[in-house]
Amino acid sequence: MSQIIIKSPNPDVIWNSWKQKASRNINLEKHYKTKGAVFSLDSIIAAEYVKAVNKAAIVFFEEIYEATTSSAKKIIKQGNVKSLQKEQFYEFKTVAVKSEWKGPENVAYLNSIQEYGCSSCRGSGTITCSKCNGRKDIICSNCKGTTIGCKNCNSTGKITIRLSVIDQQGNKKNVEKTVPCTQCSGTKRVECSRCGGSGKVPCDSCQAEGVKSCKDCGGNGVLFKWIIQPVPFKAERTAKPVILSSIKVSGFEKEMGVEIQKAIERVEGIAIRDPYNELNQRFIEPSLGYFTKELSKIINETQKSWKSASKNTDFTIRKPIYIYPLIALDCETAKGKKFQVFSIGSERGYLVFGKI
Ligand SMILES: [Zn+2]
Ligand SMILES: [Zn+2]
Ligand SMILES: [Zn+2]
Ligand SMILES: [Zn+2]
Repeated sequence: MSQIIIKSPNPDVIWNSWKQKASRNINLEKHYKTKGAVFSLDSIIAAEYVKAVNKAAIVFFEEIYEATTSSAKKIIKQGNVKSLQKEQFYEFKTVAVKSEWKGPENVAYLNSIQEYGCSSCRGSGTITCSKCNGRKDIICSNCKGTTIGCKNCNSTGKITIRLSVIDQQGNKKNVEKTVPCTQCSGTKRVECSRCGGSGKVPCDSCQAEGVKSCKDCGGNGVLFKWIIQPVPFKAERTAKPVILSSIKVSGFEKEMGVEIQKAIERVEGIAIRDPYNELNQRFIEPSLGYFTKELSKIINETQKSWKSASKNTDFTIRKPIYIYPLIALDCETAKGKKFQVFSIGSERGYLVFGKI
């Protein structure tokens, strides 16, 4: 295996790159203008303001988090218009982004609503009144549906009256005579005061309609079903950059991580494709050209992260893991203010960082 040493950019190159980048958002004139001289970027030279050059290295990798989609199964709900109105429906034109979603994980889908006929009323919306069986009237409870027998004649239609009679001899006697009943006129029956003799009264359960509104469908003959299921989340991946540095980088870790992530194609480093066998001095030192105790420490840390990510289900570490040469320039302003400028990568591809 032939390995080529990754050559870091030289301090002059780093300094010049930093000046160009910094001039966009730092007022360098304020820090470097000297009396009697015309200020120009070219006049700020490394030989004068870079006091020391430190060689180090950083490890860069990305932790990949996959958005988990809910494993909840779909539930079918059924109900009438009222239950439909009580439900909160959701409409999705496209998939949702999990990190932006504020609602519940399982929701009722608007486009899942289906209408079907109510089986209780066979779609008519009404059911036959069970009290009158649809006949609209019921048997009169007063006469039980039959006419009432006349009490006066004991339902015979006749009554017996006594007549006072005196015969030829002048003897007084009573003679019985049968005549039609005066109450029922001989019909043996009297009219029921409640039903007027018809034997039937209007059904009070259906208001003499013969049918009642169907309770299941609420009267319109239809029921609905709809689906409750997980929100359609976009399969989301978040790549969180992690930076481990063998020297202090003055709080630049976050910015470095993001910048490397953006420029990963352009920044040259040592790619570790087999962390178990390559995260060690034997593999790294020949390419880097140097190795330190501090570097050994961050390599061990990286190994630990790699191992724990292998066991962890929340995230994985993207391969390859990169090791970049890091050059730290100890710099000063014209007024003697100290700050650092960092370069990450090789002379063929690097990034610079630094604030005054
Ligand atoms: Zn119904
Ligand atoms: Zn009656
Ligand atoms: Zn009678
Ligand atoms: Zn009825």
